[in-house]
Amino acid sequence: MAGMEPLQQISPKSVLRDYFGYTRFREHQEEIIQDLIAGKDAFALMPTGSGKSLCYQIPAMIRPGVGIVVSPLIALMQDQVDALRQNGVRADFLNSSLTMEGAREVSQRVISGQTDLLYVAPERLMTTGFQRLLTQTRVALFAIDEAHCVSQWGHDFRPEYLQISILLEQFPNIPRVALTATADAVTRKEILEKLSLKNAGQFISSFDRPNICYSVELKQSGRKQLADFLQAGHSGDAGIIYCRSRNKVESTAEWLSGRGYTALPYHAGMDQASRLHHQRRFLQEDGVIIVATIAFGMGIDKPDVRFVAHLDMPKNMETYYQETGRAGRDGLPANAWMVYSLGDVVALRQMLDKSAGNTQFIRTQQRKTEAMLGFCETTQCRRQVLLSYFGETLPEPCGNCDTCQGKVETWDGTVAAQKALSCVYRTGQRFGAEYLSDVLTGKDNERIRRFRHDKVSTFGIGSELSKKEWKSVFRQLIAAGLLCSDMETKGGFYLPPQSRPVLRGEQRVLFRKDPVPSKKERGFRSP
Ligand code: ADP
Ligand code: ZN
Repeated sequence: MAGMEPLQQISPKSVLRDYFGYTRFREHQEEIIQDLIAGKDAFALMPTGSGKSLCYQIPAMIRPGVGIVVSPLIALMQDQVDALRQNGVRADFLNSSLTMEGAREVSQRVISGQTDLLYVAPERLMTTGFQRLLTQTRVALFAIDEAHCVSQWGHDFRPEYLQISILLEQFPNIPRVALTATADAVTRKEILEKLSLKNAGQFISSFDRPNICYSVELKQSGRKQLADFLQAGHSGDAGIIYCRSRNKVESTAEWLSGRGYTALPYHAGMDQASRLHHQRRFLQEDGVIIVATIAFGMGIDKPDVRFVAHLDMPKNMETYYQETGRAGRDGLPANAWMVYSLGDVVALRQMLDKSAGNTQFIRTQQRKTEAMLGFCETTQCRRQVLLSYFGETLPEPCGNCDTCQGKVETWDGTVAAQKALSCVYRTGQRFGAEYLSDVLTGKDNERIRRFRHDKVSTFGIGSELSKKEWKSVFRQLIAAGLLCSDMETKGGFYLPPQSRPVLRGEQRVLFRKDPVPSKKERGFRSP
C-alpha cells in the first residue's frame, strides 16, 4: 500500500471495503488474512469461486514488501492484474508474454517498492534474473495458487511447481499460503510436505454446492439427449458444454448453431485471438453457450452460468467437480448434466496408456477414473458420493440430484451379479465385458469355441438379459468395486476379495436401470 498510513490503522476489513467494495468476509478469509499478516503460514482448500484470491491479496497489501503470487495460469495474469489495478491495487506480473523492456519496468517497480502484488509464472522462479530481484526487495509473503499442481500423484502435476519448494527453502521466515480448490487426501498431504506447510493453519471449506442439481445419463445418442436437456429448461441460458476432443467441440458447436443456439467453440487448437473473442462473448453477452475441451474455464468468473453439460465423462472427480463448479456461482439453481458410456472409460484408458507416466502414476489415474465411473453408476445420492470423495460427509441424501429425485430406477441385480462374477471366474479371469456377455448369453461364436468356453457351466445361463444389459451389469460391478479390470491383460476382469460376499449370497446388489430399458429388462425386473 502507498505507505503513508501507519500500519496499525489499515485493517483487513477496511481494505476489503475500500479496494474491493465488499462489506463482509466470507468463510475463512479473515482468519487466513490475519494469520498471514501475523507472519504465519496457511493452507486453504476451498472450492472455486469461494474467494481464495483475497486471502493473499489483502495481506500482501497490508504487510510491508511485495507479495509474490505463483500461478500456472499465465493466460489469465494480465486480466487478473488489470482487474486489481482497476480497484486501485498496485499489481504487476512477470511471464513470458512480456518484452524484455516490459519485464525490466516491472522489476524496477518491484525494487522501488511501487507494487504490492507480483504474479509470477513458476518457471521463472529459479531464473537468475528473478533470484536477483528477490535479493533486492522485501517479500511480504508467498502465495502458491493452484497448489495441487505440486503433487505428482495429483491430476494436474506441473514439474515447474517443484521449483517452488526450492524457492521456499530459501525464505523460511516469509509467510506462505498454498491455495487449491481440488485435493483429495493424498494430494493434500503431498502439498503440505512439498511446500513445508506442516505447521500451517488449515482452512478447509465445504465443497457442497447445494444449488447445483447433478444428473447423469447413460449415453445413447449424446446429441439427442443434449437437445432434450437444453429444451427442457435451458433455452436462452448461458452454459458450458464439455467434450473430450477438439473435433467434437467443433462439430457440436456447429450442430447447436444450426439449431438456433449461440454456441461457440473453444479449444487449445484454436488461435489465441478467436479463443479470446469467444471467451469475451461468453462473459459479456447473454445466453452464449461455450462448447469446449478441458482447456476452457480456469479462472473464468461468470456468475450466471445456468448449466454445465458433459458429453464425455471427465477423467476424474476433481475435473468433474471443477468443471461443474462453474455453474450457478450466483447461488441460483443450476444444472450439472452428463452423459457417459463405457466407451469413455476405454478412451480414457487409451489416453493413459499413451501418457508417459510410471506404473504408480498410471495406477493412481486409473483409480481416479474408476471413482468417476462409480459416481456415474451410483444408485446413491450423487451429492453424497461426490462429497465423500472429497472427504466430507453429507448425513442425508440431498434431494437435489437425479437419484434423489427418483429419476434413476434400480433393480435387484444380486442373481445377475452372481452369474456375471462366476462367469469371470470360470473363464479364467482374463476376458472383458464383450466376451463375457457373449458367454453368458450363450452366443455361438468361434472364439468361445476355441477357448472351449461353450463347455463352462456359465455358458448361456444369462439368457434373461440381452448382451447390452450384461455389459451394463459388468460396468456397474466395476463401478461398485465388485470387479476389477487388469491393465496388463488389456482390461480383462478379475475378482477382488470384495466380490466374495456377493458370490456367497451374503450381499445384495442394486443396479441402476439404464434410462431406456428394453422390453427384456422390464420383464426381468417385474417381481
Ligand atoms: P477462487 O480463487 O476461490 O476461485 P476468487 O478469489 O476468484 O475465487 O473469488 C470469486 C469471486 O468472489 C470474485 O468475483 C471475488 O471478487 C468475489 N469475492 C471474494 N471475496 C468476497 C467477499 N468477501 N464478498 C463478496 N464477494 C467476494
Ligand atoms: Zn441427492
